[in-house]
Amino acid sequence: MAVAHVLGFPRIGAQRELKFAMEAFWKQPGDAAALQHLQETGRTLRARHWQAQVDAGLDLITVGDFAWYDQVLNTLALLGALPTRFGFDAQRLTLADYYTLARGDQVNFAMEMTKWFDTNYHYLVPEWTADVGFDGGAEWLFDEIAEARALLRQGGKAQAKVVLLGPLSLLYLGKIKSGLSHKLDLLPRVLKAYQALLQKLKTAGVEWVQIDEPILALELDAQWRRAFAPVYSALAVEPQSIPSLLLATYFDGVAAHAELLSGLPVAGVHLDLVRAPQQLAAFIAGWPQDKVLSLGVVDGRNIWRTDVDHALQILQTAQAQLGERLWIASSCSLLHVPVDLANENKLDAELKSWLAFAVQKLDEVVLLRDALGRSEGEDGGAVLKQKLYLARAARAARNSSERIHNALVQKRLQGVTAADAERHSGFAERIATQQKKWQLPAFPTTTIGSFPQTAEIRQTRAAYKRGEIGHLDYLEKMRDEIRLVVDKQEELGLDVLVHGEPERNDMVEYFGEQLWGYAFTANGWVQSYGSRCVKPPFIYGDVYRPEAMTVGWSKFAQSLTEKPMKGMLTGPVTMLQWSFVRDDQPRSTTALQIALALRDEVVDLEKAGIGMIQIDEPAFREGLPLKAADWREYLDWAVRAFRISAAGVQDETQIHTHMCYSEFNDILPWIAAMDADVITIETSRSDMELLDGFGEYAYPNDIGPGVYDIHSPRIPEVAAMVRLMQKARGVIPDQRLWVNPDCGLKTRNWPETYAALANMVAAARQLRSAK
Ligand code: GLN
Ligand code: ZN
Repeated sequence: MAVAHVLGFPRIGAQRELKFAMEAFWKQPGDAAALQHLQETGRTLRARHWQAQVDAGLDLITVGDFAWYDQVLNTLALLGALPTRFGFDAQRLTLADYYTLARGDQVNFAMEMTKWFDTNYHYLVPEWTADVGFDGGAEWLFDEIAEARALLRQGGKAQAKVVLLGPLSLLYLGKIKSGLSHKLDLLPRVLKAYQALLQKLKTAGVEWVQIDEPILALELDAQWRRAFAPVYSALAVEPQSIPSLLLATYFDGVAAHAELLSGLPVAGVHLDLVRAPQQLAAFIAGWPQDKVLSLGVVDGRNIWRTDVDHALQILQTAQAQLGERLWIASSCSLLHVPVDLANENKLDAELKSWLAFAVQKLDEVVLLRDALGRSEGEDGGAVLKQKLYLARAARAARNSSERIHNALVQKRLQGVTAADAERHSGFAERIATQQKKWQLPAFPTTTIGSFPQTAEIRQTRAAYKRGEIGHLDYLEKMRDEIRLVVDKQEELGLDVLVHGEPERNDMVEYFGEQLWGYAFTANGWVQSYGSRCVKPPFIYGDVYRPEAMTVGWSKFAQSLTEKPMKGMLTGPVTMLQWSFVRDDQPRSTTALQIALALRDEVVDLEKAGIGMIQIDEPAFREGLPLKAADWREYLDWAVRAFRISAAGVQDETQIHTHMCYSEFNDILPWIAAMDADVITIETSRSDMELLDGFGEYAYPNDIGPGVYDIHSPRIPEVAAMVRLMQKARGVIPDQRLWVNPDCGLKTRNWPETYAALANMVAAARQLRSAK
């Protein structure tokens, strides 16, 4: 029978146990009890997660997917390749040191963090310097192997498989800090470290190592591609002295490397057939007799129950060619899905029956193995038969549910025309109309939307949610807050105001809760980085807006001031990107449905007298596919969705958009094609350098390059902001520049916010008077 395994399991715990233990330790890093509690929590979680894999009936349980903060940092600690600037001895690394690397301290800034491929997980970026060591470090992995062994000895037939991040992906994902001209210069040393590590694992009795090389799913340049064969040959010089290697790829297809992969001296390769089912053809015919092929057919990135018939069809085709060499797996690590559906007691039974979280996915992998291994007619197949029946019934019920298919939405989609994505006039004409209407000064000042979310605001929202305070009470409290925010902005002399977003807990959740087709879990936590977890909503059905979502708040806020009040919405791509999405229709279709719902909101805001409307798209860039060859298709539908959400209004209504981290010089034509009248972006931390691309490209519409970093409590000085704006004036014509912070202010307190904005307004005034 085929071998069943998963590529990794979420480490944080179903109740976020690891998060709380970490945070308690950070508060008292010197406290022996807090340390003991943290270590104990780690042990308990590992044991629980392995036991779940054993109980499900997997053939291999995965060891090494646990990390105290991040799997890349754990790999660095294991190899001894820590950033040298901290001065830690890797072999004597304590957990307190480890967290200093991750979070920084008074003296050292933290390691940089960045997105793990196209997921919402963030890893710590290795720092490559000429003096970085690779001489071995913290041996936590070996303790974990011993723990797993002890657990397996208690019964069952499962074996331990160790997972490691592969040497080339590790090097690639790091950043050169100094003393090196190319990351591959470090290769000989990295290789030696992996050789030693693999030998040690073999000595410790480990028979299988899953070695992850996710960079194979990227468009690698020749240097990196060419490195694979020599590296893996070097690792396998004495194949008997190291464990068997399963080289794992995921997040996209690797068909371009089929020949390379089939020739490597590894014992097997894993493919992600959820993301890239079409790649299978490039592998199964002529797959080497001495290699296994692990097929990831259970989605590690989404929460739906697997379509077993679809999966079985793929597996049967593969089995005909591969026979015993077929393994069955999750598409990637289950790190990206919540832990256990059993904890969802608020979700209605129907929705719940459509879902599978990590624990349920273990069962799915095993079910597929068993279903493939014997015919349903055989003796003893009754249980299996019933499980298959349930899986099929759930999927069939979902496919035909009326909650998914909304005739109104379908009809509307069919009626969408090219004209729906076009404003009445081009930007030049629109901006002239808008200027005539608003008479804003040069360098108009505004903010990005949110104002400080005080403890009181959060408490009020929570109390309302729990039913402890009534609707009127809640409304009054929120209105008080809006009054305060408007008063302060008037006092400060800002030109375009916002209502401050006190009623929003989260920019996606707030809208998701009001739209049909969205649902929320009670405990569906997924690790975003370190102790930080997110609970993404999921989109299960056609998205429909039953009634206005923000009009009441915006109208109230506008009634308090003569100045323009910006309406504030979350854009279609961000609504999609920060949710689990449907797997029964293309992302582009869901985006379009959200766009239509938002379009109605935009039009309603306009009707209610709101003349400026901001549609935030902070996740626009992160939606880009891993391979540049696929970018165009994404950008085309993403831009179209934004335009459709915005284009229902008259020329005089000004559409704004906002994006954080504005590293999108490579996609500027599409940013311009969104055709927002004003875009506000984050630029202060790059000293306005991110704006250069906009200048070179001659970006046509208005821009507000952020003049101060809202992530820092520091109060920006007037002169510093003037200097940044002078830089901006060097690349963008004056009449198109706005003055605003980098992003929303919800994480700041009032004294900081007030002082910073006062300086910002003063800076704008200086620019005006000097003009
Ligand atoms: N309008 C949102 C805010 O100000 C935008 C947040 C974001 O860009 N992530 O908080
Ligand atoms: Zn932002």
